[in-house]
Amino acid sequence: MDLQQVIDEIVEVLQPRLGEGKVADYIPELARVDPKQFGIAITTVEGQTYKAGDADAAFSIQSISKVFMLTLALGKAGEAIWKRVGREPSGSSFNSIVQLEHEHGIPRNPFINAGAIVVTDMVLAGHKPREAIGEYLRFMRYLADDETLSIDEKVAQSEQRTGYRNFALANFMRGFGNLEHPVEHTLGVYFHQCALALSCVQLSHAGLFLANRGTNPLTGFSVVSPKRARRINALMLMCGHYDGSGDFAYQVGLPGKSGVGGGILAVAPGKASIAVWSPGLNKVGNSALGSAALEMLATRTGWSVFGA
Ligand code: GLN
Repeated sequence: MDLQQVIDEIVEVLQPRLGEGKVADYIPELARVDPKQFGIAITTVEGQTYKAGDADAAFSIQSISKVFMLTLALGKAGEAIWKRVGREPSGSSFNSIVQLEHEHGIPRNPFINAGAIVVTDMVLAGHKPREAIGEYLRFMRYLADDETLSIDEKVAQSEQRTGYRNFALANFMRGFGNLEHPVEHTLGVYFHQCALALSCVQLSHAGLFLANRGTNPLTGFSVVSPKRARRINALMLMCGHYDGSGDFAYQVGLPGKSGVGGGILAVAPGKASIAVWSPGLNKVGNSALGSAALEMLATRTGWSVFGA
């Protein structure tokens, strides 16, 4: 199979649909992004990268950062993290508060906002906020093997000013005793992790350890154990697309994590790490063209974890 040909075809098929969906505008800085962009990059476990479209343009990874912060938190606190966050799909939107009251401030999973804020609070333990941001940025540079990665401060500040719902979630959880730090500290780190700017190529490198039993084949770095990689993939499959997770499993069949910047990281275990990006979102906040591209890719490659 010629992967370059497959992704070139995907770009061609999607060309007339560029601009479909709605760009996230609740973070003012993201509302300014040109919606008519689409990029895709695949890095295989053999270390080959294929790219097409706007694959070198940097975008805000937003919630895709939750996968990497979860990896850091597991490294720091191990399985103890599950006392403070669940592992079940939520069936609710990414910024929903409804289940938190019934579940006494314990979020359903680490990929909805509430769960990710708790995970960030765990990574913050023993640090000042700027140290935790530094630790995250170093980790991302190590994963992607790229010292040029940086956080878009404007995006972070933009969300800091307008993130009312995240402040509500964080305060609510702090009221239940499930946040250890002042909400401004935890959210300061959270907004910065979301504001990391990566291209599809860089993101496909950063996520490659998940496709290769926890080891990045480009660098040889062992990031997590095979068992932990498998478990992170399981969480991505069940919870990575919020209330669209079932549909993503049905259409694509790969562990994946979306972000409101329009990016999606998908993992084909034993095969490749795939990053797609197009800013227009569908009704549940996942990239419309990104999802369509991954569906085409899964069909043409037979990479779905459920069989060809
Ligand atoms: N920073 C965004 C928020 O908290 C991330 C959400 C997302 O990408 N789904 O609202």
